Amino acid sequence: MSSSTLLDELIRALQVQPGVGPASASRIAYYLLDRKRKEGLGLAKALTDAMDKISYCPKCRNYTDNEGEECKLCSSAQRATQRTICVVEHPNDIEAIENSSSFKGSYFVLHGHISPLDGIGPEAIGLDLLKGRIEKEHIQEVILALGQTVEGDVTASYIAAMAKKMSVKVTRIATGVPLGGSLNTVDGNTLAMSFNYRHDV
Ligand SMILES: [Zn+2]
Repeated sequence: MSSSTLLDELIRALQVQPGVGPASASRIAYYLLDRKRKEGLGLAKALTDAMDKISYCPKCRNYTDNEGEECKLCSSAQRATQRTICVVEHPNDIEAIENSSSFKGSYFVLHGHISPLDGIGPEAIGLDLLKGRIEKEHIQEVILALGQTVEGDVTASYIAAMAKKMSVKVTRIATGVPLGGSLNTVDGNTLAMSFNYRHDV
């Protein structure tokens, strides 16, 4: 316990971050108070704005600034002309792919994977929306950039079957993505290679 209730609350609140326990939280709180009050206020504003406003893009389910508005990537007319959708599990994966400059089409974010044991079915990861986009945008190829995990495999099989019924080519990136690993742990060059050597599903 510190000398201030507000400080105690700040230390407690800081522990919401992964890997930040009481000792780290206390160090951060004192550091902000002692030396970085202005930046601390900036951090508070950025947190409030992000938590209040960031929503899912109605087209790709990636994060976007305001509810109902398409994200920056979906607003690009050039990407839409590619007629290719890359399906990923998490918004983080898109950042990794964009940094590797290996893909110029549009994206779709599942925010997870199919997991019957946890009660997560196809609807929960937005596959109705994906199906609608494949039809409406006359998509020619669906690229599955999913982690090489059991759940990733189950999800890939389900999406592949759905797209094949619609006579759409389905490929999956493979080379260099480690078994059990996720995309954002792979370096840009390896990820670019994974796209170039994607295989039919
Ligand atoms: Zn979007």
